[in-house]
Amino acid sequence: MVVWLNFPKFVVSIHRSMLRIRHSKHIPFGSYAAINLFGFIIIKKGIHLRWTDINHELIHTRQQAEMLWIPFYTWYVVEWLIKFIIYRNLNRAYYNISFEREAYSNQHDIQYLRNRKWYSFVKYLFKKKTDKTLKYKNE
Ligand SMILES: [Zn+2]
Repeated sequence: MVVWLNFPKFVVSIHRSMLRIRHSKHIPFGSYAAINLFGFIIIKKGIHLRWTDINHELIHTRQQAEMLWIPFYTWYVVEWLIKFIIYRNLNRAYYNISFEREAYSNQHDIQYLRNRKWYSFVKYLFKKKTDKTLKYKNE
């Protein structure tokens, strides 16, 4: 169950209808708190997401929908492999995937999805890592 207490009211009204949240003991693996699979946000049991985390996952939902889901996951994995070859580090590869760069760079902007243009992740493909991204990475 998502704790809505600290969410601004307008955020709750915008997002509640879009949220499809499930809890799991085992998914996602490792130290990840949540994963977005075909628009379903799966949260590890016992984890409470902040509204910025929910916003992050909703950005992924939008990316997936505009790419018609399967191409999204294909692109995600291929880009992760390329970034792994470039950075030689699992975490750096993950944080530099264009979908993640876009989500981490904008998760604190609650209006972002209202104003976002289609395929905005493309401009994050070759964007150099910013201080903003680094800051979010360490949260
Ligand atoms: Zn993400």
